[in-house]
Amino acid sequence: MTLENDGIVTQLMYEKDNLTPSIRLINKHFGWAKLLKELGIKSNTQFLDEDQLLKELKISIKKLGYIPTRTEYEGLLIKPTVKVLSSRNITWAGGMRKVGFKPYGKSISIKDLICADENCYGQFTPYENHEKYCVNCYKSMRARVIKGLDRSNELTKIKEYTKKLIYNGNSDKIIEEMFKSIQ
Ligand SMILES: [Zn+2]
Repeated sequence: MTLENDGIVTQLMYEKDNLTPSIRLINKHFGWAKLLKELGIKSNTQFLDEDQLLKELKISIKKLGYIPTRTEYEGLLIKPTVKVLSSRNITWAGGMRKVGFKPYGKSISIKDLICADENCYGQFTPYENHEKYCVNCYKSMRARVIKGLDRSNELTKIKEYTKKLIYNGNSDKIIEEMFKSIQ
């Protein structure tokens, strides 16, 4: 590998060259930043691909489970940092919009959540504090539960579900519970 870019090496550059040991091994046993420091090589995340930064942002927000304010995001020390994003001319709000999230334009009292479905990045404002899923996921879960009930001949199960709904209502948690047990 040639040291272009003023001798800066990024994990992306290293990976592209298919060198050994692999990035995964380095990070597992040593740590990329530590290794570079040891070797006297400059590391600079600003050379991360823009797409990679945005992907990282999307995953970080999904993991967080809600939409933070920019100040909050900075305080949480989440990667990519606002500084790294702005070094690639991406504002935090702009980056959020690019990956499909809506940052807050004004001060808010209730924070938006990210859907609890692991494959869904849906953002929604919860109207009740037990909401976990976006409208689409909630509706599709509910439809699956109804389908399951239609097929079911188990009177005990149907009774159990009915009671649950009467006592607890069709909150996200209850529908989720039924959805999982009816699979
Ligand atoms: Zn969803």
